[in-house]
Formats: sequence, structure tokens, C-alpha cells
Amino acid sequence: MSRTPFVAGNWKMNTTKASAIDLAKSLAAGGSPRDVEVGIAPPFVYLDAVGAAIKGSSILLGAQDVYFEKNGAFTGEISIEMLKDLGVRFVLTGHSERRHVLHEPSQLVAKKAAAVYGAGLILVHCVGEKIEERDANKTFAVVQSQLEELPKDLGDPSRLVIAYEPVWAIGTGRNATDAQAQEVHAFIRQQLAKTYNKTFADAVRIQYGGSMKPENARGLMQQPDVDGGLIGGASLKADSFLAIVNAARN
Ligand code: PEP
Repeated sequence: MSRTPFVAGNWKMNTTKASAIDLAKSLAAGGSPRDVEVGIAPPFVYLDAVGAAIKGSSILLGAQDVYFEKNGAFTGEISIEMLKDLGVRFVLTGHSERRHVLHEPSQLVAKKAAAVYGAGLILVHCVGEKIEERDANKTFAVVQSQLEELPKDLGDPSRLVIAYEPVWAIGTGRNATDAQAQEVHAFIRQQLAKTYNKTFADAVRIQYGGSMKPENARGLMQQPDVDGGLIGGASLKADSFLAIVNAARN
């Protein structure tokens, strides 16, 4: 089954307006190859400016989070309609920093995931275990429960992306070995086949995240169930992000 790899940059709470625009322009000028889908998720406040900077390129604009309600008295929150208004095409849910630093509960992650998919956007749902969970042989159980946050009636595999990001590898400079990543990616695909069906599961892109860098990207991407990456630190420099995009080419 051939899947178009998807490489997305998660800029987190980084950049200024000027540096965000510069980075976006460099990426747009770097060109995205036809055989890799490329996306960037800047901070909310720069979505509009970054969207303008990548206009005309094939780079997809993404958001790092969203609130599930349509509108109303939810101080500080951002709705899906607001994101769509700015040209956002994909939204992250369940990122480990939201789960473990901002203490976002699983029920809230599930509501956000349902809202993103229901609104016709690409849902990038992040899953991954903490080091103590891996050491206690709970990796599969944790990942399975995080996959259960997804709506049960998903029909379009092109709008579901799973990002496997072992928490112990995010922003730490450590990364899963190629074999460790492949083992969990294969498990994720099996679970998707059980919940939905095999054709659906075979078409879903599963990104690896957790310090993917130009040096380790090719080995990870060569694994049969690794279909791109969700990149944090290395997405903040055009050269390193574009090198990872290049490594995703077949
Ligand atoms: C992330 O937070 O999605 C991530 C993968 O971060 P980093 O690449 O910096 O480990």
C-alpha cells in the first residue's frame, strides 16, 4: 500500500511574528516535492500572517490545538470555524504537552478530535507513552486507550493522521530506534484495522515524532509503517525541516 508521507512542523510556542513569516517564506521557497505532503503549525496568533506567507505553495497550514465548541463564552479559546476562516487544513489533538503539561483529560481530547474530523479538517491525533509506561510494558495499552479517543464512525482515511510520539523522546534529543518506532506503528495500524477496517487502516498515515532530525529521518521513514513525521525542534530551521521533508521522499 503506498501512502503519501506527511511531514508536519509543530512550532509550539516559538517564533516572533517576523521570524514566523521568514521561516514560512523560506519553506515556501524551498518548494514541497509532489510525493510528500508538507504542513506547518505555527502559534495561533501568527496563523494569519503565516497563511499569507505560504499562499500559492502546497504547504498546508495547521493549528496546534482547538476548542470543540462552536462559539460562545469560552474565554481564551479558539473555534474550528475561526481556524477554517484563516485557511487551516489540519489540527493536532492529544499532543503530549497538552496531555501532560496542560493536563488535558482524555475526554476533552476526544471531543476535540471529533470536532476536528466532523468539520472536514485533517485530524492529526497524537499518541505515545511516558518512559515509566514503557518500562512497565504498558506502551501498547496506553496507545490503544489514546486511539479509543477517536470517533468510531471515521470514513475518510485521508483526513486521519496518527502521530506516534513517545513522550520520553519529545524535545529530549532522544528518539525511538527505527525498530521501536516500527513496532508501535504496526500496532497502531492493527488497532485501526480492528476498529474500522483493513482498507481504512492501510490508507491512514502514521507519523513518527520525538526528535526526528535530518540525521535519523531516513532510517525512521524507511520503516514500512512510518509515513512521515511530526517535527518539533527541527522544524524551526528551514534547512533542517526541508532536509527531513527530503528524507521522506521515496
Ligand atoms: C513534538 O512535540 O511534536 C516533537 C516531535 O518535538 P521534537 O521534534 O522537538 O522532539
